[in-house]
Amino acid sequence: MTTILILFVFMNLDTILKTGHCTDTRDQVLSITPTTQKQVDILKNVSSHYETALWQPVSPEYIKEETQVHLFVPGNSSGIIKNLLRTHGITHEYAIYDWINRTTHDNPDTVKLILVGSSYEKRPLYALKLSLNNRPNKKAMWIDCGIHAREWVAPAFCLWFVHHSLSFYKVNKDITHILDNLDVYVLPVLNPDGYKYTWTKNRMWRKNRSQNNANNCIGVDLNRNFDANWCTEGASHDPCSEIYCGSFPESEPESQAVADFLRSNKDLVQLYLSIHSYSQMLLFPYSCTLEEAENHSDLLEMAQEAAQAIRRYYRNTYSYGPGGKTIYLAPGGSDDWAYNLGIKYSFTFELQDRGRYGFLLPTSHISRACNEALIAVKIIALKVIEKTQAATSSPQTV
Ligand SMILES: [Zn+2]
Repeated sequence: MTTILILFVFMNLDTILKTGHCTDTRDQVLSITPTTQKQVDILKNVSSHYETALWQPVSPEYIKEETQVHLFVPGNSSGIIKNLLRTHGITHEYAIYDWINRTTHDNPDTVKLILVGSSYEKRPLYALKLSLNNRPNKKAMWIDCGIHAREWVAPAFCLWFVHHSLSFYKVNKDITHILDNLDVYVLPVLNPDGYKYTWTKNRMWRKNRSQNNANNCIGVDLNRNFDANWCTEGASHDPCSEIYCGSFPESEPESQAVADFLRSNKDLVQLYLSIHSYSQMLLFPYSCTLEEAENHSDLLEMAQEAAQAIRRYYRNTYSYGPGGKTIYLAPGGSDDWAYNLGIKYSFTFELQDRGRYGFLLPTSHISRACNEALIAVKIIALKVIEKTQAATSSPQTV
């Protein structure tokens, strides 16, 4: 069932992003940028008088020219609304937002949509908050996917994780224990502009799509743009480089949005996870230096246990260790930054494979790649719960 869902999501994304058309009548979120005052007036009218819900801006009166509008359109109104838009020459596009919307709608009591910011090209950065019960003083974990555009299995994992959590809460004991103790924030596509670009123009694009005033090179490596030994060895000041660090730490709206959210919630978030591909590795701080993290032995033990479980259940090998020593120095990464912020359990996963298909992992491999990562997430999250609860319940010494 889960395999079918993920393939369905991918096939739909493929169709939607390549053709710009969607022939079915499911609920959708349309992204529209009005270019004239007349289009603004029509959108105000549509969002006030038809069965739709305005997601962005908060109220029709704030709709204006050259500013993106996100309009939720229920399946039964879809035909009328799209005809109306077409008649007035108003173009629209769809995205993965369709899935996010559907999930939020189908689970109103347990899934909340949080707009953490917007991308350089003004696509919304939506995180889903999974909160399966209302226990007081609940802590949280954060998962982001797709910071590098071409690593397509990463967003698939985020969708997979949400689906698994909602389907197996109260069924599978591990996911139940995790969700009973932690709320989970999931950001499925951290770099939506780059992701879209990989579907439409260049499958191998890695960075975001911000424009540089100094030359024609586009994009910043968002995983070099955080404030952790920013732009030292392992990153580049050259805007044309694949590992361009940006003009200053958090210069990019995408990295700034994530950093702002985590800064505001740093007392809640106990576990930070960032999902990448490929090379099959479970990495933890530091990547920006060869020094060891203060709780290195804890992080090592967790990563080792997760890698052993993947080996035991899936007969697949994952390397593990601090990023700087395990692959290469990579300053400005989100995991190191989150760690320095005070989130003491911080990991970067590099999913399948080891290079045979690389970024072009076939859809037939997605299910297994996601299941492997899921088992690692579960083991690490359970350990975090165990360690943090033991720390808070131990008797105070004076
Ligand atoms: Zn990556």
